Amino acid sequence: MITFYSNEPVFKIGEAARQLRVAVPTIRMYEKAGLIIPFRTKTGRRMYSSHDIYYLLMIQDMIRNHKLNLEAIKKLLSIIPCWMIKNCTYKTFHNCSAYNENSIPCWLKGDTACFHSIEECRNCKVYKNCPSILKDPKSLFKFNNSNY
Ligand code: SF4
Repeated sequence: MITFYSNEPVFKIGEAARQLRVAVPTIRMYEKAGLIIPFRTKTGRRMYSSHDIYYLLMIQDMIRNHKLNLEAIKKLLSIIPCWMIKNCTYKTFHNCSAYNENSIPCWLKGDTACFHSIEECRNCKVYKNCPSILKDPKSLFKFNNSNY
């Protein structure tokens, strides 16, 4: 089940860090690990939406309360069945790296059938569903059209 938060990037990184009660480098570390894709302004400034804040909270919860490290979270997100969420054809997904290997999340591969740019992945329903998956990993096995 997707929890709806605004995807409007309105918070600077300092404000996001303040809301999460973490240091700014912590958010940068999550980005470096490939978990979070901040919006970038024309000048390259990172901006975050309330959906991003919620996602960051879920990452924090995984680390603090479930003792997962960043690699483990990445591994969990790498098994998202994006081809099911995006209704890819058999021919498409059978030849796609997102289907054929699960070392990293699809948006970090850079060679999936649907990949155009990391900025576009930020708005993809696969990526946007990450907080719900971290909140309820079993939702990975509950995908159907009513999710969206
Ligand atoms: S557009 Fe990006 S996030 Fe969406 S399924 Fe493709 S690679 Fe993954």
